[in-house]
Amino acid sequence: SKKHKVCIVGSGNWGTTIAKVVAENTQEHGDIFEPEVQMWVFEEEYQIPKDSQHASSSPDLASQPQKLTELINTLHENVKYLPNIPLPKNIIANPDLASAVHDATILVFNLPHQFIARICDQLKGKIVPYARGISCIKGLEVSDRGCQLFSDSIGAKLGIYCGALSGANIATEVAQEKFSETTVAYEPPSMDSQHPSPAGTPGASPHGSQLDLTQLDGEMKGRKGGGKKQHLMALPAEYPPLHHTNMTKLFHRPYFHVHLINDVAGVSLGGALKNIVALAAGFVDGLGWGDNAKAAVMRVGIVEEVKFGKTFFGDSVRNATFTEESCGVADLITSCSGGRNFRCAKMAVQEGKKIGEIEERELNGQKLQGTSTAYEVHDFLKTEGKEQEFPLFTAVWRILEGEKRPEDIPDLIDVTARVL
Ligand code: NAD
Ligand code: 13P
Repeated sequence: SKKHKVCIVGSGNWGTTIAKVVAENTQEHGDIFEPEVQMWVFEEEYQIPKDSQHASSSPDLASQPQKLTELINTLHENVKYLPNIPLPKNIIANPDLASAVHDATILVFNLPHQFIARICDQLKGKIVPYARGISCIKGLEVSDRGCQLFSDSIGAKLGIYCGALSGANIATEVAQEKFSETTVAYEPPSMDSQHPSPAGTPGASPHGSQLDLTQLDGEMKGRKGGGKKQHLMALPAEYPPLHHTNMTKLFHRPYFHVHLINDVAGVSLGGALKNIVALAAGFVDGLGWGDNAKAAVMRVGIVEEVKFGKTFFGDSVRNATFTEESCGVADLITSCSGGRNFRCAKMAVQEGKKIGEIEERELNGQKLQGTSTAYEVHDFLKTEGKEQEFPLFTAVWRILEGEKRPEDIPDLIDVTARVL
C-alpha cells in the first residue's frame, strides 16, 4: 500500500518551523507517511554572515551569496528565515513548485497571505486531484466577491478539501521545542475515513472517484447565504485513511499539542483578525501606556473577532473557538506580547516612523500580516456598511492611514462616549 507524501508550500519563519514538526512526524509514523518532506522555497540568493558559525565551518559557502535551497539542503538549516535551528535531514528544500508538489497527497500551505493566490494559479493541474490541504496562513482573502477564508479559497481554486491550522504559535518558540498548543480544523471528507471500501463503492478506485460532497467552495462566504457545492475526488483505497487521528499524527509533537476541531472558519478568523489587534496593542505599548491599556485593546479585540465571525460566517463559526481554543484568545495573548506585528507597531510609535519602514529594517525579509489585513478587513467592512460596528479594527486602519493617532484609540473604542 502507498504512503502519504507531504509537501510544505512555503519556507519562511513559520513555514520552516512547520516543516520541522511535520518531518519529525513523518519519520516517526512511517506506516502512514513517506519520511521525505518536500519544502517549496521561493528561491533567492543569501550571503551567510561572515561572523557566523557556518562561515568558519563552511568557508566555501560563506565566500559569496548562495542559493537559499542549496544552503538549506547542505547545512540543514534555513539560515535566513529560521537561523540556528537544526532541521531534520528528511526535509528537502525545492525551488521548483511543480516538482515539490508532485505526487503529494497532503499539501501544507504556509506562506505570507499576499502570495498564495499566485501560488494557487501555478499549482493548478500540477497536484494530484485527491490531495488534501491544510492552510497555516493567517489572513483573509478580500475581493469584490466578499471575504473568504484561505482554506476555502485554496480548496475552491485547486478543487481539493482544505482545513486550517492556527494557534498561539510564535514560530521561534515552536522551533526551539518550547511547549505550545495549536488548533487544527479538519473535517475530513467522509470517504477518507472509510476505505478500504467494499468493491464498487465510492473511494474504492485506485485512481479516485468523483463524489458530490457537502463542501462549500467558500465563494461569497462572508456574505450571507453564500457557498456552492464542490466535487471532491476520493482518496484512492491504497492510501491510509486521512481521518482525524492520522491528521493529528502529522502535526502533534510532545512540545506541540494539537487540538482538533471542526470549526474551520473560527480557526482561520482567529489567526487573521488577531494580527490587527496586535498592531493596536503595539500602538498603545509604544506610547508607554502599560498593561491596562493593552488589556483594554485585547478585550475589545476578542469581542470584535467573535462579532466578525457571527456576522459574516454565522452559519458555521462557534464562539467557543475564539474564547476556548489556542487559535482564539491564546493567539491574541501571545501575539500582543511578543509577535512581529506587536513589536513593529510598538517601535513605529516609539520612533515616530512608518510601520513598513520598521518591517523592512527589523524582519530580514519576514512579512507582517496585520497591516495588509487591516486594509483588507476595512475594505470589506466599508462595503458591508459596518465600519462603526468594529471600532477597533477601524481605528487601526485609520491610524495606518495617518487619519488618527495611537493616542486617539481610547476615544475611538469608547462605546460610552458615543451615547453621552
Ligand atoms: P515570513 O514572514 O517568514 O515570510 C517570508 C517568506 O515569504 C519567505 O519564505 C520568503 O521566501 C517568502 N516570500 C517572499 N516573497 C515571496 C513571493 N513573491 N512569493 C512567494 N513567497 C515569497 O513567513 P512565515 O512566518 O512563514 O508566515 C507564513 C504564514 O504563517 C503567515 O500568514 C503568518 O501570519 C503565519 N504565522 C506565522 C508565525 C510566525 O511566528 N512567524 C506563527 C504562526 C503563523
Ligand atoms: P506575528 O506574525 O505578529 O509574529 O504573529 C505570530 C503568530 O501568529 C503567533 O501565533
